[in-house]
Amino acid sequence: MSKLGDLIFGQDPKVRARVTMTLLAVYGYAASTAVLLYLVNTNLVAAHAAIPLVIFMWTGVPIFYLLVRTGMSNRLGSPGMDLPQCMFAMASILMAYVIVGPMRNAVLVLIALVMVFSMITLSPRQVRILGVSTLSCLGLAMAWLIMREPERIDARIEIIKFVLAGSTLPVLSAVATHVAKLRTRLVEQKQELQHALSMLHEVATRDELTGLYNRRHMMQLMEQQVKRQHRSGEGFCLALIDLDHFKQVNDHFGHQTGDMVLKAFADAVGKELRQTDVLARWGGEEFLLMLTAPDPGLQGAQASLARFQTALRQLVVGNGIRVTFSAGLTEHPIGEPLHETLERADHGLYAAKANGRDRVELVWPHKDQSHPKGASLAQDDQV
Ligand code: GH3
Ligand code: MG
Ligand code: MG
Repeated sequence: MSKLGDLIFGQDPKVRARVTMTLLAVYGYAASTAVLLYLVNTNLVAAHAAIPLVIFMWTGVPIFYLLVRTGMSNRLGSPGMDLPQCMFAMASILMAYVIVGPMRNAVLVLIALVMVFSMITLSPRQVRILGVSTLSCLGLAMAWLIMREPERIDARIEIIKFVLAGSTLPVLSAVATHVAKLRTRLVEQKQELQHALSMLHEVATRDELTGLYNRRHMMQLMEQQVKRQHRSGEGFCLALIDLDHFKQVNDHFGHQTGDMVLKAFADAVGKELRQTDVLARWGGEEFLLMLTAPDPGLQGAQASLARFQTALRQLVVGNGIRVTFSAGLTEHPIGEPLHETLERADHGLYAAKANGRDRVELVWPHKDQSHPKGASLAQDDQV
């Protein structure tokens, strides 16, 4: 069913909307055809007059459908073929006006219907073009009728109808301009709303000072990663990073400089991140690093942290402030609750501080597998 829908309407939402509008007109043509055939059947309209109109209508419908559905209408400069379709409908209605005899007054209602439709889909200028051309053609059709059948057509009534139709044009034009303004405002509001939403998303997910993801969003990212891990079986690593002796930076240089250091740290480390790594500000001067696919393993994660250490050695903030960090690194095995992995990383961080700072301590998932020896990565170590 949905495949058939895709075939008829296309998959692109914009094309779907245009095709839907085009097919909406089919309803009008089908109803008109049914009425025309009924009039022919009851001898109110001559078949030789009605059949060419029916053929005309049903030639136009598939042409417009194919142009819009295949996107050829884009190349013609009118993706929805709105003005041409309105013009075509008006031409059909005016032809009907000429051939349906005493029923012709009812046909005028259809002109109003197309004008209303045009106000929703066309620009004010296009509505004016459509209105003026329709009125001109209506005038010609009336004149032709008066000349062809003077004994049956009352010229005065035709002229009154023409003047009435003409007097609606300025109103139609004003309403169309108003509707177009509303439409433009709606599009602008939608864009503003999208912008506000993305700003809101930024505020909700990012840390204001460093621009890194905040703790809440990092939690969500880790939970997503856990789900992905269940499907792929690929592990991921977490490293809890804490700046060393950061309080001293604040105490000696002030809180503002401390902020600058935090930002500089985030920028320097951010440049070293692989696309699949995520760094978040976990709180204060603490950061959490998630290293994901391709499964980095603890060795790979260790190498990433070594890159961070190297980058930090080049970093000098303000009047010669240098920073180092300590980190606890661990792996998340499938099925383990996230908080246990985080606790293990925290233990690693604690150990790194206790062992002299400026180092990375690895903590293996199973307690009995912990590798205190050779598992730490001090600044002097090369990994
Ligand atoms: P350690 O090596 O043991 O981690 O020592 P430390 O001084 O870094 O640790 P401690 O927990 O004693 O101090 C952390 C400091 O980080 C204290 C706090 O004022 C500071 N801090 C936390 N958040 C911010 C922040 O957003 N801006 C600034 N400037 N300082 C912050
Ligand atoms: Mg610290
Ligand atoms: Mg701390």
